[in-house]
Amino acid sequence: MLSVPLGVARTGAFGRYIRIMINFLTGYVMGERSAARAATYTRGAAASSAALGQTQLGDLNDRIDRMLLVMDALWDLLKEQGYTDEQLMDRIKALDSADGTLDGKRTPTPVACPKCGSMIAPGRETCVFCGAASPAGPDPLSGV
Ligand SMILES: [Zn+2]
Repeated sequence: MLSVPLGVARTGAFGRYIRIMINFLTGYVMGERSAARAATYTRGAAASSAALGQTQLGDLNDRIDRMLLVMDALWDLLKEQGYTDEQLMDRIKALDSADGTLDGKRTPTPVACPKCGSMIAPGRETCVFCGAASPAGPDPLSGV
């Protein structure tokens, strides 16, 4: 089977040539009626995929809204215990800059395995090569 990176096949003269060849081969092998049916199925699959993407995006927005609601509730409870907005901002800056960059996000970095020296990906509790426990320890946010 012909394998061409999609980015190459979609653009330029080479992409047009590939599409013509694919259409020709499809028509030759499957017959014109079957090719037309396959094109219809392909368009239907693309539409279904787009609809699925919209649904997943809606679910993601709902989850973010729920998380923000929980965070607001937690912060209200902490303020009732005497914590201040300034303390919260200081903690956010400290956590943000822990990866070396104050950029509004945390970028997890791999850690070296204490047993074999291989790098252990962020979020992993053990080394994939030797099974030793990660020095970073378990991640309480894994799976979030
Ligand atoms: Zn290891």
